[in-house]
Amino acid sequence: MNQPSVWTGQTVAPGIGLGPAFLLRRERKAVPRLGITDVDHQLQRLDDAIERAAKLLHVHRDRAAKRFGDVIARIFDTHLMILEDEPAFDEIREMIRSEKVAPRFAVYTILEQYAKRFEGQDDTYFQDRAQDVRDVCRRLVNQLDGEADTVLSDIPDEPVVLLAAELNPTDILRLPHKNIIAVATDAGGATSHTAILTRTLGVPSVVGLRNLSKAVKRGDTVVVNGNSGKVIVHPDAEQLKTYQRKQGEYQEFVASLKDICDSRAETEDGHVILLKGNVEMPSEAESVIRHGGDGVGLFRTEYLVLTHGGLPDEETQFEAYRDVILSLKGRPTTFRTFDLGGDKAFPGAGIPAEDNPFMGWRAIRIGLDRPEIMKPQLRAILRAALHGPANLMFPMISTLEELFAAKEILAEVHGDLDADGVEFDRDVPVGMMVEVPSVALLASQFAPHVDFFSIGTNDLVQFTMAVDRGNEQVAGLHQPFNPAVLNLIQMTADAAHMAQIPVSICGEMAGQPLATLLLMGLGLDELSTSPSLVPEVKKLILSSTMVDARKLAEESLRMNTAPQVREHLLEYMKSRFSNLPIWFEPGT
Ligand code: PEP
Ligand code: MG
Repeated sequence: MNQPSVWTGQTVAPGIGLGPAFLLRRERKAVPRLGITDVDHQLQRLDDAIERAAKLLHVHRDRAAKRFGDVIARIFDTHLMILEDEPAFDEIREMIRSEKVAPRFAVYTILEQYAKRFEGQDDTYFQDRAQDVRDVCRRLVNQLDGEADTVLSDIPDEPVVLLAAELNPTDILRLPHKNIIAVATDAGGATSHTAILTRTLGVPSVVGLRNLSKAVKRGDTVVVNGNSGKVIVHPDAEQLKTYQRKQGEYQEFVASLKDICDSRAETEDGHVILLKGNVEMPSEAESVIRHGGDGVGLFRTEYLVLTHGGLPDEETQFEAYRDVILSLKGRPTTFRTFDLGGDKAFPGAGIPAEDNPFMGWRAIRIGLDRPEIMKPQLRAILRAALHGPANLMFPMISTLEELFAAKEILAEVHGDLDADGVEFDRDVPVGMMVEVPSVALLASQFAPHVDFFSIGTNDLVQFTMAVDRGNEQVAGLHQPFNPAVLNLIQMTADAAHMAQIPVSICGEMAGQPLATLLLMGLGLDELSTSPSLVPEVKKLILSSTMVDARKLAEESLRMNTAPQVREHLLEYMKSRFSNLPIWFEPGT
């Protein structure tokens, strides 16, 4: 009988999921050099395998198109293109003929040579192509072995808890979502982009569990508590019963939140906070409405580069932006210009590998150096804005000169559109992200030059605490409740209000129930978070007062350490909201 083991990671998406484990493994198969005598037969086997792999890729492509739209489905076109690469497959056939080796050995040997060549390039675009070539290689070897197409499509047709050492954004887009009860990964911090994407699956998820995937076998019973960050492998009968009960309570609570979907987030003493959703893909806009959001507070447009497999042209972007605006039916959308680089050095963006990418050539730095990337995007946003309310914001601004330079490019784009006789909205509000400490400290100097601030706490905490936001090894130092961070937030909010512009938070902190009152008390006008977290945050706002929120913020600002602030908030929230099954403190 297996003993229960409890693992602790970082919560990414709330809820409780329990069921049999399915492990996503990326181990490479052994491919020994096996000789053959029946060359023609083996060449035929290869052609059949290619045909079957292509058919399956078309199935995946259609599935992705239905779920996410054509733009995302294009990921699979890359794999189809590799399968259709004549020179590579001529080399494979030649090797089978001349060296009389089994097709799987020839496929592996030649495609691995291609992958290595890609890997050796400086540009991350080509490095990522190496991954694609290996994916196609694995598909073909599996076909030749008579096995299922890919590890992902291997997920059984029944509900499972998905465990993996890591998930990359492409995996997440390809998962057959309906069968996934919960997700737990070894790698990742709660604000890593993989974690943010995992949240869009809408199932309980925990990341940063270090070696969990090595300790679990397929079919083992696993409980994932996305509210507390705990994962239990082989729960005993008692634990299973408890978690089934907690799961039921939580589901009931979530269902009860439907009643407040259409209400404004207004405190008992009459203060309204705007609650918006963050989206990575146009198809998620619908989820913002379903969860009662007031609009999209952050559209991470750079994900279009990922799903497009490269930089989309103006027209492709225009269509995506217009579709989001239209699906929001009058609610505003804030479009952030491409925040590429860091852990979003997506294929096709031409971003070279760097030693320190989070602090390297990324976001607005790329936009300013490459107006040929930024200008088509600005044109697309300004044109799409004719179809409904839109805001525009620049990511990762660190100096006033950068802000002025970005606005200069925007002015040039206005001029170009006029010169081209193209209609556009010339009154789109222009804001900026506050996610670098230099900006928060000088917020009063930036505020007169923008229409709004949006605080990106994921990066602001990363840079204030000098802690890699995606590294589970140092996750404990990613402290949004550190008084240093709270002071920077307050300075930003005060500067915004002095200049009479609104200020929002669009980092993951905005969706943390423990932070809701604190952020209101610090003066935030808007919170923007993953759409699925909007109802819980709304419930808290509806049940609280601004007087209490301000008091809580003042007390927190006087504290010295993040644990002290957490403890203080926790005590208050637990006593005040003991009637709600909200997990305020991960780890309990
Ligand atoms: C942030 O840094 O908090 C933010 C919202 O931007 P991103 O997570 O996309 O870097
Ligand atoms: Mg950021």
